[in-house]
Amino acid sequence: MFETVLLPIDLSVPGSWQKALPAALRLCQAEAGGVLHVLTVVPDFGMSVVGSYFEAGFEKKAMHKVGEELGAWVAANVPDGIEVHPHVMHGRVYEQIITAADRLGVDAIVMASHRPELTDYLLGPNAARVVRHASQSVFVVRGE
Ligand code: ADP
Repeated sequence: MFETVLLPIDLSVPGSWQKALPAALRLCQAEAGGVLHVLTVVPDFGMSVVGSYFEAGFEKKAMHKVGEELGAWVAANVPDGIEVHPHVMHGRVYEQIITAADRLGVDAIVMASHRPELTDYLLGPNAARVVRHASQSVFVVRGE
């Protein structure tokens, strides 16, 4: 039913994947030929004036470094035998998650609801927007 699964993660927030990864693995392992796509987004600055303080080529370097970090994360956390594809994108987080889900043709998106320490609301801004706008099934994994 959910053969291809997209797991968007924030590499700097372990709570964005500690519970969501096992859920995503279960979903795609339930199908023969299940595939896991892991995506991390390098957020843009939103305002060009902010970006202008960084040296030229900064974004390219950042994407490269994040790609290496994501590769190391996959090696450390995704069990052998799973077909897994890492992706690094740049832009607004929720827009990139939705774009990636459409482009990759995934059946489902699995994501954590919000940062564990931010308990005053139940759905973070990116999770809320993905739930609202994605055309795929979205599994929101709650923390404690
Ligand atoms: P919070 O602001 O509490 O972190 P979010 O809605 O931003 O709430 O985070 C919920 C989920 O959104 C994360 O668990 C992750 O799946 C996704 N997400 C957040 N930031 C990124 C990012 N930079 N790249 C990919 N996914 C992200």
